[in-house]
Amino acid sequence: MNIHEYQGKEILKQYGVAVPNGKVAFTADEAVEAAKTLNSSVYVVKAQIHAGGRGKAGGVKIAKNLDEVRTYATELIGKVLVTHQTGPEGKEVKRILIEEGCDIKKEYYIGVVIDRVTGRVTMMASEEGGTEIEEVAEKTPEKIFKEVVDPAVGLQVFQARKLAYSINIPNALVNKAVKFMMSLYQAFVDKDCSIAEINPLVVTGDGNVMALDAKLNFDSNALFRHKDVVELRDLNEEDEKEIEASKHDLNYIALDGNIGCMVNGAGLAMATMDIIKFAGGEPANFLDVGGGATTERVTEAFKLILSDENVKGIFVNIFGGIMKCDVIANGVVEAAKQVQLDRPLVVRLEGTNVDLGKKILNESGLNIVAAESMADGAEKIVSLVK
Ligand code: ADP
Ligand code: MG
Repeated sequence: MNIHEYQGKEILKQYGVAVPNGKVAFTADEAVEAAKTLNSSVYVVKAQIHAGGRGKAGGVKIAKNLDEVRTYATELIGKVLVTHQTGPEGKEVKRILIEEGCDIKKEYYIGVVIDRVTGRVTMMASEEGGTEIEEVAEKTPEKIFKEVVDPAVGLQVFQARKLAYSINIPNALVNKAVKFMMSLYQAFVDKDCSIAEINPLVVTGDGNVMALDAKLNFDSNALFRHKDVVELRDLNEEDEKEIEASKHDLNYIALDGNIGCMVNGAGLAMATMDIIKFAGGEPANFLDVGGGATTERVTEAFKLILSDENVKGIFVNIFGGIMKCDVIANGVVEAAKQVQLDRPLVVRLEGTNVDLGKKILNESGLNIVAAESMADGAEKIVSLVK
C-alpha cells in the first residue's frame, strides 16, 4: 500500500527524521491558511499524487508570497499531472502540500528496501540525489552504496557512518546524517514498510539534514497490525477494478492488453500471461482467483474482467487440483450466463474430472471454445481477438 508524501513525512517525523514544516490543503483557501501558519518567507506548493517525478512535470512550485501560493494552488488542484511514473493518462491532483521552502545546499538519495537476493533489509545511499535513481543505477552504479542489515541486530551506527562518508556528507553533518538514517530504518521496520525512499535528502544552508521528499510503501500482508497506516489509504489513487477485486479476495492487476485472463494460482497466472505473449497477444490483466474458486468468485472475476473496455476476449486457464474441473466448468457456465458474456471465451481445464468438465462446457449452449492445452488455448484466444 502506498501513501502520500505529506503522510509519509508525518510518520517519519514521529521517528525523529527531520522534515520541513508543512500542511496538506484541499482548496486554494486552505493552502493560503496553511502557508500563514508556516514560519518562512518562501513556500513550496507540492502536488500530492501517488507517483514521483512531480518536480519535472510541474507539480512542485516555489511561491515567494501568499498570492503566489494561491495562484499555484489554484493551478495545481484539479490539474491532471503526467509524470514518468503516472503513465500517459496522468493523475488528477486532489490535494497539495504547502511546505516551508528549504535552502538546499546539496541533494542526496537514501532508500531502504528489502533486497530479494539477500532476503534482508538494505539501505542504499547516493550522492546523486534529486535525479532519478534508476538512471544513476543504470549509468553509474558505482555511485550507489549499500549496507545490508542483519535482522538480529538491526542497522548499526557504523554502517550508517560508512554510508554517510561514502556519499560525502560534510564532516560536520555526519552525525546528523547518521541519526537520520537510524531513524529512517526504525520507521521502516516498525511500520512494516516495503520501501522507504527519500529523494532528495538535503543538506541545508543552515547545517541541517532533512527529507524533502518521502515515499513510503507498506507490506499489505502486515497491514492488519497497522490500523493507523490503513487509515491513510487514498482510494482515489488506486485502480477502481483493483479495489473491487480486493473486496472479493481476488488478486487482480490491470494491464494494457486486450485478453482478459482468469486463472487459479499466481504461478499459473504468470505462465498464462507469458504464453499469451508468446502466441502474439497481450494480456489485459493478471488475475488469480485463488484455490477455492466458487461460482460467486468466478462470476465476480468475470464481471471485473468485462468491466475493462479494452478486453476483446477471455482466456480461462484453470488447473483443477483440490477443486474439481466439473465444479469449475459449472462455475464458468453460470458466470457466463449471469454476465451475458458478449466476447469470445476460451477455456482450458486440466486436472480432476477434466472429461466431465469439458462435457459441461460443450453442452452449455454457450459460445465457449474448449482448449486442449495451454498453448492451444493461448493460440485460440489470440486468433479470436484479432
Ligand atoms: P518528485 O520526486 O515527485 O519530483 P520532490 O518532492 O522530490 O518531488 O521535489 C522535486 C524537487 O523540488 C526536489 O528535488 C527539490 O529540489 C525541490 N523541493 C521539494 N521540496 C522542497 C522544499 N520544501 N524546499 C525547497 N525545494 C524543494
Ligand atoms: Mg523526489
